[in-house]
Parts: sequence; C-alpha cells; structure tokens
Amino acid sequence: MLGGALGEAGQSLPELEETLKKAKQRNLAWYGPRMFRPSYFAGTDVLDVATKAFNLFASENWLYGRTSYPALGEFEDDVLDTLYDLFHAPAGAAGILTSGGTESLIEAVHIARDKAQATGKTGRLNIVIPNTAHPALDKATHLLAMDVRRAPPQETQEAELDWLARALDRNTVLLVGSAPPYPFGEVDPIDRLAQLAKAHGIRLHVDACLGGMILPFAEMLGRQPPLFDFRIDGVSSLSVDLHKFGYSAKGISALIFREADDATFTRTVFTDWPSGMYGTPSISGTRPGGALASAWAVMRYLGRDGFMERTRKIYEIRDEFIERLRALDASVIGRPDCYHFNFALAGLDNLLLAAELSKEGWIVSSTEKPAAVQLMITAAHEGVAQPFAKAVADIAMDIRKGKRTGGGESSVYSKVVVKQRLAKGNEARPTAST
Ligand SMILES: *Cc1c(COP(=O)(O)O)cnc(C)c1O
Repeated sequence: MLGGALGEAGQSLPELEETLKKAKQRNLAWYGPRMFRPSYFAGTDVLDVATKAFNLFASENWLYGRTSYPALGEFEDDVLDTLYDLFHAPAGAAGILTSGGTESLIEAVHIARDKAQATGKTGRLNIVIPNTAHPALDKATHLLAMDVRRAPPQETQEAELDWLARALDRNTVLLVGSAPPYPFGEVDPIDRLAQLAKAHGIRLHVDACLGGMILPFAEMLGRQPPLFDFRIDGVSSLSVDLHKFGYSAKGISALIFREADDATFTRTVFTDWPSGMYGTPSISGTRPGGALASAWAVMRYLGRDGFMERTRKIYEIRDEFIERLRALDASVIGRPDCYHFNFALAGLDNLLLAAELSKEGWIVSSTEKPAAVQLMITAAHEGVAQPFAKAVADIAMDIRKGKRTGGGESSVYSKVVVKQRLAKGNEARPTAST
C-alpha cells in the first residue's frame, strides 16, 4: 500500500482514521445478512462488550499474567473454570488457554507424542484422523516430526470407523474426532471413537473448536446434540475456540485435558538465563491481554441464559434456511448438528451455484466431495432465509437454462502469498488509494 520506506513525517490520527476506514471498505463486511462465510456475530451488544474489553487490555501482555497483571491471571482462572463446567471435566482436569484452534491442536498432538515417548514409545509416531478433521492437525504432525493418517472420503460413518480402526498401529498415539468438523456440520461419533482409542490404549482428542460454545447450550435447550465432552470415558482432551462462538475478539482458544499431568508436557520453564525464570504454559510468548479480557467479559455479559438465547436464535434461523432450501428440492449433506450446513441441488454444478451466489452478493463458501454450497449461520441472518432461497431458485433456473455457465471455482479456506522485496525503484505499487 505504501511502497518502500516508512516515510519521514507521521500522519495525524484523524487523517489515519480516514485512511483506515477507507481501507476497511475494501474488505468484505465481516458480518451481515448476506455474509455466510465464517463469522461469529451474536448482536451488536455482544460485539460492543467484546471490543471494549479488548481495548481496555490491548497493551497488557498476558505473558505477565502471573507476575505483573494479576487481573489477567484471574480472568484466565475464571474462563477455565467456566469451561471445565461446560464440558463436564472431572475433578483433577486442567487446561491451558492458547492463541487459537491451531495452537490448541498442536499442543494436543504434542502431549500425545511426549506422553507416549515418556512411557517408552520410540520410532516415528503417528496420529489417525477422519477425512474432515482440520488441517491444523497436519501442521502439528509436520512440526512435531510425526505422520498423519487421514481417512479418504467414505460413503458412511461405519466405513470411516472401519478405516480408522485399520489405520491404527503400534506407533499411533492419538485419534481425533471433531464436534463438529469444519467442512460439514455433523458431529463425529465421539463415543465410538473413544471406544476405539481405549481399546488401543491411545488418546482421543475432541476438536470442538467450532462447536464447543454452541453444543452445550443446544443440549440445555433440549435439542439433544450428540455427546462429545468429558462425560464420554476415553476423551483425553478437548479444544474450543473462544474467538468463534465465545464471540470474543480474535486470538483465544482453550485446550482442556482430563488429567492435570498433561500440562507438564505443554509447559516449558527455563532458568538458565540472565533474566531469570521464563515459564510459559504453551507455545506463545507474548500473549494478547485484550483477547483474554474480551472472552472473559462476553462470558460474564451473556451468562448461561444469554448463551442459550443466542444459540436458540441461531438454530431457529438455521432451521428456516434448511426448510426453505428443502422446499426447492435441495438436499442437505449429512445431519447438521451445529450452526452450519451444506446443501446441493441434484443435477446441477453446485460449485457454479456457489460462485454465482457470491457474484450476486450472497457471500457463501463451498465444499468439494461432495460439491455443495456451505452456509455459516449467525444472528445477522434473521429474516434472510426467504430472499436467499429465492436467489438460489433463480440462479439454479438460469444455470439449468444455460444462461449462466462456467466451471465454478474450487473451494478455498485460506491462502498464502509471499511478499517479496522488489528491486530498488520498483517498490511502489499503485493501488486504488494512492
Ligand atoms: C477454526 C477451526 C480450527 C482452527 O482454529 P484457528 O483458530 O483458525 O487456528 C480447528 N478446528 C476446527 C474444527 C475449526 O473450526
């Protein structure tokens, strides 16, 4: 945006605010009636709480939460106690707060590896995961010099369980299930996976990064979602992202383990250093105090009743979408247990449908295998099911008549760009703002 150097004179705050607001307009609006990509909007009141708490603690380094900033240590204890309660963690359980789902998953794999090695396992260790498990697990095994065995797509849950059982061997240390997986909204059969893990004497991690702050409230509402937490014997650890349905500012997740002893494998303490003891509970050094304060404040603001109410609304909106889409003969993939779901129309290029919807301002995601349109439902979608279904019907008719063509686009979750240093004199890149 700026090209090369920092520039000598600084800019005034009003001038910068103007620039920042203009810059924000080049982004998609992160929530709104037509935004169906992942965003966790529970109302402007909740957003206000999350943002104010974040701002109040934006510059406190949570790394010093147990030395200089005891209030952050207390927030941390409160948040963990609340999570132990929500997931029915037994006495003796413990947990850590991390920067996000990825760090929580890396630490879940890290514990499994180091605990297995501590009990004498040697050689290259591996983890076994369902087809839909999050790629952060592949990243974890890559960093930890392990292998990952990801199931290929299977026709049925039964077939996938068979595949997973066959993939386990002497060097397997961890099995993973998701509640629910990101690509489709159906919770993995955690009870069956737990039996399998127990039979092989290995750990089971439940990735509830996405559903962890939705499913407990769905249960309280009487919706009977599948069990996924520590009530299932054999669940060793569970991850939940507070920056998703904890409605917090970005940068906070939790990893809860059944046995407090697991924390010894994520913790590092160094003392051989001129500045004395350096102890951290997980991978991060400096941590955002704002994210912790934000998560804490939203929990206190909503309380159990508030979370239940917001959850009820999301499911009601979701159900109306499903109903209206089924009335168009769309089929819903699997059994969505949570807030997101995927649908497909028979005999149609559904990736083209997704692309055309997005072109018309209905910002959706898609999945491949099976090709489907994915909707992530939030409070911003109240009253939108009817116009959305109409847009789907209109676009589908155009596609069937050959009025809209093209190949659709392959699904993208996120991508990487390497920003290289260019030769002197070529740095300035003209943009809309210059
Ligand atoms: C979001 C997500 C993750 C990764 O979390 P980040 O916070 O993006 O690192 C892992 N698993 C599931 C199921 C998720 O939805």
